[in-house]
Amino acid sequence: MIKKLAITGGTHGNELTGVYLVKKWKKNPKLIERSSFETVTELMNKQAIKEVRRYVDQDLNRSFSLSDLSNDELENHEAKLAKELNEKLGKKGSDEVKVDFIVDLHTTTANMGLSIVVSNESATTWRSIAYLCEMEPELKVYKWKGDIENAFVDSMAPHGFAIEVGAVPQGVLRADLFLKTEALVYHLLDYVEKENSAKPLELPHELEVYEHEVLVDYPRDEVGDIVAMVHKERQDQDFTTIKQGDPLFLTLDNETIVYEGEPRYTLFVNEAAYYEKGFAMTLAQKIRVTIENRK
Ligand SMILES: [Zn+2]
Repeated sequence: MIKKLAITGGTHGNELTGVYLVKKWKKNPKLIERSSFETVTELMNKQAIKEVRRYVDQDLNRSFSLSDLSNDELENHEAKLAKELNEKLGKKGSDEVKVDFIVDLHTTTANMGLSIVVSNESATTWRSIAYLCEMEPELKVYKWKGDIENAFVDSMAPHGFAIEVGAVPQGVLRADLFLKTEALVYHLLDYVEKENSAKPLELPHELEVYEHEVLVDYPRDEVGDIVAMVHKERQDQDFTTIKQGDPLFLTLDNETIVYEGEPRYTLFVNEAAYYEKGFAMTLAQKIRVTIENRK
């Protein structure tokens, strides 16, 4: 039974879709009201939102590891904020559950379309995703095991995931992607309402998802500066295959660097926020995940 769900926006202050959806729902709470559970909204990083930047001191969406949450010596803006948010929406690291499900709203500059980034393994999380895929056939699912484990906003709750939509520039609202994100959240609320009812939902037994394999960094010089761009033939090619010999990067001197490896799917291609993290894209494999139906 899900008693409380949180919709979080503005975890990254320059991703406006989530910021303005949360503002919309704060003004019109009826839109997200359902009979069997409570929905709350939260503008996560208000200082970063004000400054229209991803974060102030460190990435808030990498600040929820158990070790960081319990480390009193971490005192920068996001480290402190993460602890406050965990008191409100967690509480990760305790038996007390204030929120059962968190959906965290993001946008990406990569051409990811409408996608879900999930690292939670709970059956409820995966049933909700299976339901959303039935409702929105264009939805793609990325099972993340990326740069830092279990430090996402949604990891504060027993169930949850992030919605990523793109391509949208940082600091920009795009009506088409705003509406798609909004519709997906309403489907999620409908799912929870159905999951909470006596009659179990009929869901597919399997789901096709993209499982994270590796992060690919840009070619860099000896001081760490990038010396190549994502190749124009790879640009916008999210959720498409790359195989041995395909153009991957273009050096500043106009030389093509090709991909050498097994066939994989490329995701988060040329995401603006990942230049500093040291990756140009991620590689994933398509797998099938079993959905545990409720008895
Ligand atoms: Zn984000």
